[in-house]
Amino acid sequence: MSGLLQGKNVVIMGVANERSIAWGITKSLHNAGANLIFTNRQERSYQKLVKLLEKHDIEAELIVACDVASDESIQQAFSEIKEKVGTIHGLVHSVAFANREELKGEYANTSREGFLVAQEISAYSLVAVTKAAKEVMTEGGSIVTQTYLGAERVIPNYNVMGVAKASLEASVRYLAEDVGKYGIRVNAVSAGPIRTLSAKGVSGFNEKANVIVEKAPLRRNVDQDQVGDATLFFISELSRGVTGEVLHVDSGFHIIG
Ligand code: NDP
Repeated sequence: MSGLLQGKNVVIMGVANERSIAWGITKSLHNAGANLIFTNRQERSYQKLVKLLEKHDIEAELIVACDVASDESIQQAFSEIKEKVGTIHGLVHSVAFANREELKGEYANTSREGFLVAQEISAYSLVAVTKAAKEVMTEGGSIVTQTYLGAERVIPNYNVMGVAKASLEASVRYLAEDVGKYGIRVNAVSAGPIRTLSAKGVSGFNEKANVIVEKAPLRRNVDQDQVGDATLFFISELSRGVTGEVLHVDSGFHIIG
């Protein structure tokens, strides 16, 4: 796979630590030769990222702060990317957030505020960053986000995040239509459950992982590296005929009734 992304500049949003899905994606894109630009929200994530890059001997083209809750922060981040890197060819959106207390019990108990926060950070953020990224994707490009089966089916405790992911997946389709005329593609990877910092916030992670081993065609859970390689496919020209798509990287679990 080496060389597939040689000379391509790709922005990765959402590395919090070694377990982050975005870190699996980082390794896949790095191995394919991409120049990587990172965005972080928290200082803690920035520190972890710097250490990880050092440990794995990966050189970042640029690391910028970006809080997707703020239009100003997004604007600043992409202005800095434009100024220091110029054109970008890919964007990986691996960002989501919901209040922990909304990720258990009944969806019917979701608060207005909790609903809006989940939608803003987990779905609207893709719209906002697509708007900013298309200005720097002057040679066309590929945008990839991360979703989950809870968008399509009722998964216990996933609640408000499932509804936000449904909105995210619909946004993938609407955005794909908007930016297709500029040669930009928008797709999503729908991963099976992976133990990360965010996944810990949803009650009943073990049950979700166990049912994959029991029922999925491949009888095993997926990991960050498998999601990384599927994202590499979407970022690269191998998927040049694909846009508006949701690709399940879940050992086939979604086909089982
Ligand atoms: P992580 O906790 O490792 O990553 C979540 C990232 O979201 C963090 O880097 C965090 O940044 C970032 N983030 C949250 N709020 C903001 C904000 N306001 N502005 C900018 N960044 C923000 O968890 P995952 O790797 O699991 O999650 C990545 C994506 O994968 C999410 O969309 C998640 O829903 C999705 N996914 C996860 C699955 C799983 O089982 N783990 C399955 C399917 C999809 P910071 O740390 O700096 O706050």
